[in-house]
Amino acid sequence: MTGGGMENAQLFDAGNKGRGLRATKDLSAGDVVFSEPGFAAVVFDSMAANVCHNCFRRKSQLHRCAQCRFAYYCDRTCQTACWEEHRLECAAIRKIVTAPNQQVRLAARVMWRIHKETAIASDSQLVAVDKLKDHVTDLGEEALKQLQANVSSFFDYWSSGSKKHSADYISHIFGIIKCNGFNLSDQHGLQAVGVGLFPNLCLVNHDCWPNCTVILNNGNQSALNSALHSKRRIELRALGKISEGQELTVSYVDYLNLSADRQKMLKGRYFFECTCDHCTQHTKDDLMIAAAESKPSADMVKEVTAFSKERLEKIEAARVEGNFHEVARLCCETLKKQENVLADTHLYKLRVLNSASEALSYLRCYSEAADYARKMLDGYAKLYHPNSGQLGLAVMKAGVTHWHAGQIEHGHGLLCKAYSILLITHGPNHAITRDLESMRAQTEIELKMFKQNERENHAMRQEVLKDNSAADKKI
Ligand SMILES: [Zn+2]
Ligand SMILES: [Zn+2]
Ligand SMILES: [Zn+2]
Repeated sequence: MTGGGMENAQLFDAGNKGRGLRATKDLSAGDVVFSEPGFAAVVFDSMAANVCHNCFRRKSQLHRCAQCRFAYYCDRTCQTACWEEHRLECAAIRKIVTAPNQQVRLAARVMWRIHKETAIASDSQLVAVDKLKDHVTDLGEEALKQLQANVSSFFDYWSSGSKKHSADYISHIFGIIKCNGFNLSDQHGLQAVGVGLFPNLCLVNHDCWPNCTVILNNGNQSALNSALHSKRRIELRALGKISEGQELTVSYVDYLNLSADRQKMLKGRYFFECTCDHCTQHTKDDLMIAAAESKPSADMVKEVTAFSKERLEKIEAARVEGNFHEVARLCCETLKKQENVLADTHLYKLRVLNSASEALSYLRCYSEAADYARKMLDGYAKLYHPNSGQLGLAVMKAGVTHWHAGQIEHGHGLLCKAYSILLITHGPNHAITRDLESMRAQTEIELKMFKQNERENHAMRQEVLKDNSAADKKI
């Protein structure tokens, strides 16, 4: 474990991928390769009033900054801890009345920090922030227009005395944010609430089947004195054994996409061709589009695939509208069509199962939701890396659904399994792992009580049967 240092990783030339990081010693599953505080981070526009601008926890009744009336905090302690970062921003927002969008706010925070401490904020930062890749020349017409609008909004907003920067330099900063920004999740790890720049993390290259994962640790705010708080930071954690000298990788996209689709997403968003082993060998693509074992005709598979694709769009539209009855109805119909045609690992089947389970949980039909979640997990287990964070979170959700459905034994088993994955991907001190641990303890108690009751019921029944047979004999 490191205390924020970079002794487990070093920069190296990763060939046509450019710069990369590699391990300087052997690592095992769950090891923290490095942890890093953000160079700068902001809460999303849509979340500005629902998330603490210091620790990124989602909370009701946040405390508002009385001066800019834009920033919100858990309490005075979080506000004090954040004041150094917010001071110039607060003045800038007051000056223009309405806060600019999240990209502009982040670019301004990056620039204020560069002015205060240069582009290298600590000894362990391997590359200056303004030396990261920007890919501005790869941008399409629409993205370029957006970038220019952001640059002009930036100049209305940002001020730092007499220091002036060219539009080119600020475009470069926006480009860096666009292709290196890392989404920050709330304390439950399930919803992205902000975006930040972590310079060392930006050096970790992508692989669709990576050996590391990255999570946000929202820090520990329990101390009353903000100077004693542990700050929010990202952690790069090893998913399995990594040998000294091996390249460290994370995945920028969800594995549950066909290799060609993952490549397309990576090209569109990050401007590179993925040549990882799984993409070049099309690993598991066959499972993701497989037909059911009953060997339906090719025409049938084609028809149901097209039908499912269209249905998934409708399901998503209903979900966005919050119409969960409609989501559940569409899902059940689609699953019926898919039965005996698409395999249990087919992506379209897994997506429908996921939506079905989510909608039915929302509608409190926990028993049905649990059945769908179980089927989905069977498919996930054949596709995801066994220590994948996405798998861990899905198993956790399924465990909670089973618990709500009163299927305590199954629920407890799933929560234990999720716990063993999250110990690796999130670590024992992450808020979500601690939540999971208390749910695991609770289901364990309930399970004991349930078994105790069952034993007592069984004993009582035996007693009754004995009496009955005694009575029989008397007759
Ligand atoms: Zn806070
Ligand atoms: Zn303020
Ligand atoms: Zn790939």
